Amino acid sequence: MARMLIGGEAVASESENTYEVRNPATGAVVDTAPAGTAADVERAVKAAETAFGEWADTTPEDRGRALMNACDLIKEASGEIAQLLTQEQGKTLFEANLEIHHLLHGLEFYAGLASKVRGAQVPLPQKGAYGMVLRQPIGVCGGIVPWNFPLTLMGTKLGPALAAGNTIIIKPASTTPLATLRAVEQIQKATYADGKKTLPAGAVNVVTGSGSVVGEELLKHPRVRRIAFTGSTEVGRHVMEVAGREIKRVTLELGGSDPMIVMDDANVDTAVKMADVGRFFNCGQMCLGVKRLFLHESIANSFIDGLADILRKKTLGNGMQKESRMGPLHMEYQRAEVEEQVEEARSRGAKVVVGGARATGEGLDKGYFYEPTLLTDVPMDARVSREEVFGPALPIYRFTDLDEAIELANSSEYGLGASIWTRNLLAANKAIERLQAGNVWVNSLHYGYDELPFGGVKASGLGREHGPEALDYYVETKGVVVVNV
Ligand code: NDP
Repeated sequence: MARMLIGGEAVASESENTYEVRNPATGAVVDTAPAGTAADVERAVKAAETAFGEWADTTPEDRGRALMNACDLIKEASGEIAQLLTQEQGKTLFEANLEIHHLLHGLEFYAGLASKVRGAQVPLPQKGAYGMVLRQPIGVCGGIVPWNFPLTLMGTKLGPALAAGNTIIIKPASTTPLATLRAVEQIQKATYADGKKTLPAGAVNVVTGSGSVVGEELLKHPRVRRIAFTGSTEVGRHVMEVAGREIKRVTLELGGSDPMIVMDDANVDTAVKMADVGRFFNCGQMCLGVKRLFLHESIANSFIDGLADILRKKTLGNGMQKESRMGPLHMEYQRAEVEEQVEEARSRGAKVVVGGARATGEGLDKGYFYEPTLLTDVPMDARVSREEVFGPALPIYRFTDLDEAIELANSSEYGLGASIWTRNLLAANKAIERLQAGNVWVNSLHYGYDELPFGGVKASGLGREHGPEALDYYVETKGVVVVNV
């Protein structure tokens, strides 16, 4: 049985209740996890508060050293962590290892920045007086993480939180607690001060259990001063409302419906390959996935043929098997949702080029598998055009003019990422300026760069993760005036 991590110890829930974590590829039970309660959150808050006293007092360099050592310790257990991730989430082992790679890169990035959280000295108009801007840690933070990238999305919260001197309570998605617990078990052992000190017990805690109990308690708890949430727009609205009552600092990374616009002068071969990765990596369960593909009329047919060819050859299967290139959807509910969205589009005239059904065959019947799907002739008011499609289905639209493509791309309520594929500098610049998105890529898609800020506009969220910018959301800024008398 897996245990929660509170105050440096592996513990059961005070209620002693547990629940089963199942493998989406087979339906088999991977392990059981504690069903956390409000009392467990209270324990974690106390532990994180105690640890804050010590952690905020360490030197920034030591914080960086501890994060670097945490990376070494995660590497030691990476084989085991990857297997847990594949079994509980459904992604392939290749994808799980890539996720660990991104987690490590992110933690290393914030290890380097720990000693660069700077304030300022400000000249004032009064003689003998000067101002200072201090940037101080906030205190106990709560990180609420979804199931699509349990490790990297935990890292985008834990890295900057610890680097800036805060402590944190992680609430993983209830369906994916295991890899997170194993990774944090390693992080807790991290040392600094030439190996003489260990991360204070309670600097990082993991409380497992449901969003409606554990998540809700983190939102309401008055001594959790900062909430970093990644998940659906619907729950994001609720997070802001509840956390807002306590005037907490909140960042929200929510859904997206990223457009990919391919112009007639694009490198089509590269764009086809990237459309495949951009939509079907992680079985299409990415906030940043290519969710609407806009093709210039003159290249549309060859583009669709090329992409359909790749998809027909994709091997679906249990992520633990080497030959699998795409795993199942994470939940039955997720598959049903994608099925309904595809069916609604089909009933309104959309054509299925490839896929459009549950995947069947040996080893696939017990998992939530769905064929990689391409749809053309899709009405702009179909569900797949308006909503986020969180699975392996891609609606395709044709256009003849860039202004038209940008207008259609911007017609979504979301604004997370967007890409344009062209060799024309003017077209690229127009798209960069006009696309309503927190992130725009030219001849590229998101590579999860830690170096750049990442976040959404419109219904896609609030605030930024990644980049030095993320640190701004883990500090309080204090203005100070000193007068020499
Ligand atoms: P949710 O937003 O429900 O879950 C995300 C996290 O929030 C989980 O840890 C969840 O816990 C927690 N949570 C749920 N309810 C509350 C609450 N009341 N208070 C505090 N925390 C809560 O997303 P789903 O997992 O249900 O996915 C639904 C849809 O959201 C997807 O189809 C997709 O469209 C979108 N999504 C977007 C993601 C992104 O990366 N932007 C990631 C995941 C989903 P628990 O697991 O226990 O419910």
